[in-house]
Amino acid sequence: MSSPQPNGTTVTVNGHGGSTSLGASTERIQIVDEEKKFTSNLKEQIEKWGLLDSGFGYNIVSVFGSQSTGKSTLLNRLFGTTFDVMDETKRQQTTKGIWMCRGKDMSVMVMDVEGTDGRERGEDQDFERKSALFSLASSEILIVNLWEHQVGLYQGANMGLLKTVFEVNLGLFGKKASDGTSGRTLLLFVIRDHIGQTPLANLQATLTADLSRIWDSLSKPSELKDRQLSDYFDLAFTALPHKILSADKFESEVAELRKRFADKSNPDYLFKPVYHKRIPADGVPFYMEGIWEQVQTNKDLDLPTQQELLAQFRCDEISAVALSEFNEQAKSQKRPVEAGKVVEGLGAMMKDWKTTALTRYDRDASRYHKGVYTRKRGDLISALDATLIPLFLGQLKNLHKSCLVTFKKEMLDGLRGEEYSFADVVGKARRKCEGTFADGAKEAMVEEDTTKWGWEDELALLKEEIGVVADQCRKDETKKMLNQIERNIKKHLSEPVELHLNKASKDMWDEILRSFREVLGKAEAAYSTKAKSFDCTEEENISSLAALSKRAWLVLRAKIDEQTAEPVFLGKLRNHFEERFRYDEQGVPRVWKPDDDIDGAFKKAKDQTLELVPLYSKIAPTDPSLEFELPSESSDVLAGTDEFDFASTLVVFSETKSLELTNKFRKDADAYYVEAKRSTVSSVAQ
Ligand code: GDP
Ligand code: MG
Repeated sequence: MSSPQPNGTTVTVNGHGGSTSLGASTERIQIVDEEKKFTSNLKEQIEKWGLLDSGFGYNIVSVFGSQSTGKSTLLNRLFGTTFDVMDETKRQQTTKGIWMCRGKDMSVMVMDVEGTDGRERGEDQDFERKSALFSLASSEILIVNLWEHQVGLYQGANMGLLKTVFEVNLGLFGKKASDGTSGRTLLLFVIRDHIGQTPLANLQATLTADLSRIWDSLSKPSELKDRQLSDYFDLAFTALPHKILSADKFESEVAELRKRFADKSNPDYLFKPVYHKRIPADGVPFYMEGIWEQVQTNKDLDLPTQQELLAQFRCDEISAVALSEFNEQAKSQKRPVEAGKVVEGLGAMMKDWKTTALTRYDRDASRYHKGVYTRKRGDLISALDATLIPLFLGQLKNLHKSCLVTFKKEMLDGLRGEEYSFADVVGKARRKCEGTFADGAKEAMVEEDTTKWGWEDELALLKEEIGVVADQCRKDETKKMLNQIERNIKKHLSEPVELHLNKASKDMWDEILRSFREVLGKAEAAYSTKAKSFDCTEEENISSLAALSKRAWLVLRAKIDEQTAEPVFLGKLRNHFEERFRYDEQGVPRVWKPDDDIDGAFKKAKDQTLELVPLYSKIAPTDPSLEFELPSESSDVLAGTDEFDFASTLVVFSETKSLELTNKFRKDADAYYVEAKRSTVSSVAQ
């Protein structure tokens, strides 16, 4: 090993710091050091050069040649790079390992490769092979730098190097040459210190002949034995004057050569698209490191595999970046949705996040291996949907809830007031509610595909619940209506019942039942009219009408009870008796005289009055057609009453009660009798 010396200029290895006077954009980096270790800072450096996002819009060029043939000097002149140049007074090898630098004002990555002379690194011949492999796998142009006097020295170091390059190239691109994608490389021979005695054309002819001979001497695999040098390489030749003896000419010709690298419109532009190795700029660090690793471990370098590995790595990375940005966005709406909020415009937001993520992925990842790119895109979509679909379903659930609330409110508003059609109110509320749900659900869909983004099931659930609520409302309304009708029955029964019970005529019950039937008939008609708009089922109508009859009957019974309560009824008996005992047929109060038949009159009036007890004790019309009947077992679900025995409701007074009332009345009557007797005695005495 030689003893490498620091070269005076202050340059930080691996891209930290760097020369300030030249600016960050031409900071250089040692990508492979003397220990043959690959740098871990290449990505950072490419980013600093501003090339990381350039896709395929960059070029890579590297240089080969013996030590101290002015390679670094040439690169610095051509590309404005900052590679170390040998100090004339020390004459030591300067470039160790492999360096890289961005060209000044050019999107070019330039590689300066350690000289291959074997003089100083003789014991380490395979570095030459490794660096050749490495350079060929990525470079579009290989500059082969040599002195004029080296031309034709077939046994010289250069020829050994070229043989290595050719062999390595066959290994790398041999099989792939036919698909034409990435196999081609330009070999640019730069002949230094060209004095001019031998024209360039002659030098070129000599070199070309040498190259053919080398090519022919290669031991090629049998399937590639017919392949020509020109199947893989384009050759270009140029010469530069002596740097010291014709310094001005040297500078001007270097400047001319620079144009062929820098200026796309130059007819001799060197970076032809066909040489590009199609590694996206952001994949270069991973790709190069992978290549170097393979080269180091002496494994067969299989470029398609390397490209696929690169694609997997990069597509994963790109996908992860897109996904994390997406997750950040999605997180903002996760909480509100989980808290039950219907998020306005959620669908538009979700579409936007998804499109942004995919656009981002496509922009960077589509440059990589198609198959890998497509597969990883599918994975990304699944990951995005795995976040979006729960949001979508959450939104549907919340929408469902809020629509149901709206429905209830609409129902309440619609059923306020007297004049409404229940069916209309329900229909309107239902349409509004289902419409709002469908609109919201459609908005929330990220894709048209309803297998993933379906909302019909949720709508079906909502419809079911709307049905339940509507049913409940109808039941409540029916109940309210029945109560209202019952109040009306009470109002209309009150007067006729009082009137007829006061008359105590033989057909009293006929009259009462006639009135009852009339009032009930009207009530039933009122129910039927209203029930039509309720969309009630036949069953519901039957049970409602049954309830109505029973309630009406109970209203009647309550009124009868009120009118036949003991004091009221005894009062009726007293009145009836008085009218007959204390007044004569003309309604004039009687003044009893001693010979009047008080006993006879008393008995008659009393007997007539006592006839009322059996009349009132049972609801019994004289006309049997007026008899009313209710099914005894009918239990009113709406009112929640239990068993009901109709027959017992016809009885106003039980027999015991009748006897008791009779006895009480007798006592009252006796008092009248005694009073009448006394009045005759006193009138006689006067
Ligand atoms: P490298 O080892 O091939 O990178 O060579 P350097 O660029 O470090 O240059 C080695 C020496 O050759 C330096 O002293 C340069 O000044 C000198 N030099 C550079 N270019 C030329 C040239 O075109 N002709 C001659 N004669 N010397 C050169
Ligand atoms: Mg050098």
